[in-house]
Amino acid sequence: AEEVGGGDKEVVREYFNNNGFQRWRKIYGETDEVNRVQMDIRIGHSKTVENVMQMLTDDGPLKGVTVCDAGCGTGCLSIPLAKQGAVVLASDISAAMVAEAEKQAREELLSGKDELSPVPVLPKFEVKDLESLDGKYDTVVCLDVLIHYPQSKADGMIAHLASLAENRLLISFAPKTVYYDLLKRVGELFPGPSKATRAYLHAEADVERALQKVGWKIRKRGLITTQFYFAKLIEAVPA
Ligand code: SAM
Repeated sequence: AEEVGGGDKEVVREYFNNNGFQRWRKIYGETDEVNRVQMDIRIGHSKTVENVMQMLTDDGPLKGVTVCDAGCGTGCLSIPLAKQGAVVLASDISAAMVAEAEKQAREELLSGKDELSPVPVLPKFEVKDLESLDGKYDTVVCLDVLIHYPQSKADGMIAHLASLAENRLLISFAPKTVYYDLLKRVGELFPGPSKATRAYLHAEADVERALQKVGWKIRKRGLITTQFYFAKLIEAVPA
């Protein structure tokens, strides 16, 4: 029962509706009720979100651009996207995560305290696993979700995300390198008792091959690291 799509997916859903929800809501939040490691992960993750916003806006303004945020978590990316006028679908396998994302989006986008977007459009929120997403979006983004997919399931997941995207697909993942693999083995990379799900690292070459198989190529690459957070960020476009 290791694989997403089999038992593993149920474990992931369960985790992100309960312990994982509590843990990650804190990490992705703003309060100081986090330990040193969690604070470090918060900083690393927020750099990933910044990098994504930069990559996306480098191509032009986001106003009216349709974006699917697959595995949106608490909305760390969906909310800034909506602030820039993007038309966002925010979806996640965890109902608790989606409810939290919607709550935060309402607070941040409808409070009127932000002058950036005078007529803020709330993201559309949906509880569903990304395999059941359909439709077409200008841009598809999937941040820090691949860590829940073993390589045997990752290709299918990447192919499905690419099929939803018309112009761009951004994915971040924990890179599999000799060094991180070793760290993971000795347990330093994922400390803490609430780390209840399995974590999978991915080699960039494997992700690239999965994209090539469905006719996509990597256009931009970024690496975000802090002491306990490691993410490779890639932007792919039709080849
Ligand atoms: N993308 C968000 C971010 O970067 O702020 C959240 C990242 S969090 C580490 C991973 C998220 O992926 C969780 O909210 C979890 O519920 C979601 N997730 C895991 N497997 C999923 C699947 N098969 N389909 C949709 N969401 C999934």
